[in-house]
Amino acid sequence: MSAHAGGSKVRVFIRTRPTANFAQDLIEYLPDRQTVSIHQEKDSRKGVIDNQLSSWSFHLDGVLHDVSQEEVYASVGREIVLGALEGYNGTVMCFGQTGAGKTYTLTGATESYKQRGIIPRALQEVFKEVEQRSTHTFRVHLSYLEIYNDSLVDLLVTVGGCSGAGPGGMAVVEEAGGRVSIRGLSLHPVHNEEEALSLLFEGEMNRIIGAHALNKHSSRSHCIFTVEIESRSRNLSDANFVTSKLNLVDLAGSERLGKTETEGQVLKEAMYINKSLSFLEQAILAVADRRRDHIPFRQSKLTHALKDSLGGKCNTVLVANIYGEAAHIEETLSTLRFASRMKHVQMDPIVNKH
Ligand code: ADP
Repeated sequence: MSAHAGGSKVRVFIRTRPTANFAQDLIEYLPDRQTVSIHQEKDSRKGVIDNQLSSWSFHLDGVLHDVSQEEVYASVGREIVLGALEGYNGTVMCFGQTGAGKTYTLTGATESYKQRGIIPRALQEVFKEVEQRSTHTFRVHLSYLEIYNDSLVDLLVTVGGCSGAGPGGMAVVEEAGGRVSIRGLSLHPVHNEEEALSLLFEGEMNRIIGAHALNKHSSRSHCIFTVEIESRSRNLSDANFVTSKLNLVDLAGSERLGKTETEGQVLKEAMYINKSLSFLEQAILAVADRRRDHIPFRQSKLTHALKDSLGGKCNTVLVANIYGEAAHIEETLSTLRFASRMKHVQMDPIVNKH
């Protein structure tokens, strides 16, 4: 059994956005590179929080502070990508407040090759491996789904004349034989890294254009970029294709509403986001508890769409992105709490498929 096929947990990492005003008196990274402590100054806050505790420690699988995009991919992405090439579903999710670096971590900065994120690096690795693995034949397809206020939007609908869910959000999550598919979501065959990157770019553009048209901030939606990999052994003439999904998920900003934002579009968006993130947590924790019959996947479009890649035999990584400035310390605490709740999740051990 290969190392990446043996994972039985959601692995959780912290990544900090570098900032000129990093709150080093409030946020302490321990040398073990797995622990973050938050020191809350009681005097600076009105009222008493959490039984007057002023420090919290969070022990996670890794703390990515002051590290390059390449190191982030090596710690977070590579194992899951290699697992997907061997037939295991995998999910990488970025979670945290708006501005904390989720999109930077996943997609990266388009203006610089060095700053490309997990998705372009994953695509590069997939096609490098596909070329090198002479014992198998592979077929690779991509889709890009946006979930906004619980409706589904196809971010690649304009590509290659494919019909999809479109901005009206008409796609529907369906299940057959334990597999989840999204009716109306276009699925695009890709043959090399260049084709794949151009679809990613197209999807990113559509995300920005769609946000502009609806007058919404793009960070108010969840986005799932899916690489579907089918592989078949060349040595066995009757071998079936093994299919796996690699989901790269940019979750909507988790920040709480300001006191003034109590009506209209912002409130509606916030309610959908809170609900879907809380169902995501419930679903992941239910998988951990092995409450197989009662996992609430269908309670939101996000968990339903991710159902076959969260439950059971799959590799899952959560990256909790934090914005390490004093003004954001409460959101940072709330992100770290979510991260540490996820850290205790146990998934089914995975057996080798090939
Ligand atoms: P989010 O997706 O969480 O809303 P972004 O990824 O858009 O946040 O990041 C906000 C800004 O901070 C962007 O300009 C991004 O380029 C920058 N940024 C975030 N994380 C990093 C990082 N690790 N290194 C350099 N710039 C970063």
